[in-house]
Amino acid sequence: MNQEPTPTPSPARRHCPRCGRILPDDALFCGDCGISLETGLTAPLASETPALDTEPLSVGDYLMMRILSMLPVIGVLLLLVWAFSSVGSLHRRNFSRAELILTVAGHLLFLFFLIVASRYF
Ligand SMILES: [Zn+2]
Repeated sequence: MNQEPTPTPSPARRHCPRCGRILPDDALFCGDCGISLETGLTAPLASETPALDTEPLSVGDYLMMRILSMLPVIGVLLLLVWAFSSVGSLHRRNFSRAELILTVAGHLLFLFFLIVASRYF
C-alpha cells in the first residue's frame, strides 16, 4: 500500500537553451524556436532566415528598387547586396534574386548571339 509506483522520474527537465520552453527528454529540436539541442544550431525545419522582414513592400519600394537596379554598376552591386543579405526584407531579397537571374540570363543570351553573329560577320 505504501509502495506507490514512483511517478515518471524527471530529473532536471530539459529546457530549450534559447527560448526556455520545457522539452521532452528525447527531443532533438525545440518545437518552438527550432534550435538543435545537440549542436545548438537552428534546425533545418525552422524558417530558413527568421531575421528577414516579411512585411509586404509598397509600390514605391518596388519602383525604387527597379530604378536603383537600373543604374550601371551600382545597380548590380545593390542587387547582389539585397539578394544575399540575411537581414532586411524577404520580398526585396527575392525580387533581387529574380532580377539577378534575369540579368545573368540576358547577358548570356547577348553573349550567345554575339558568338553566333561573329561567325557570319
Ligand atoms: Zn526553443
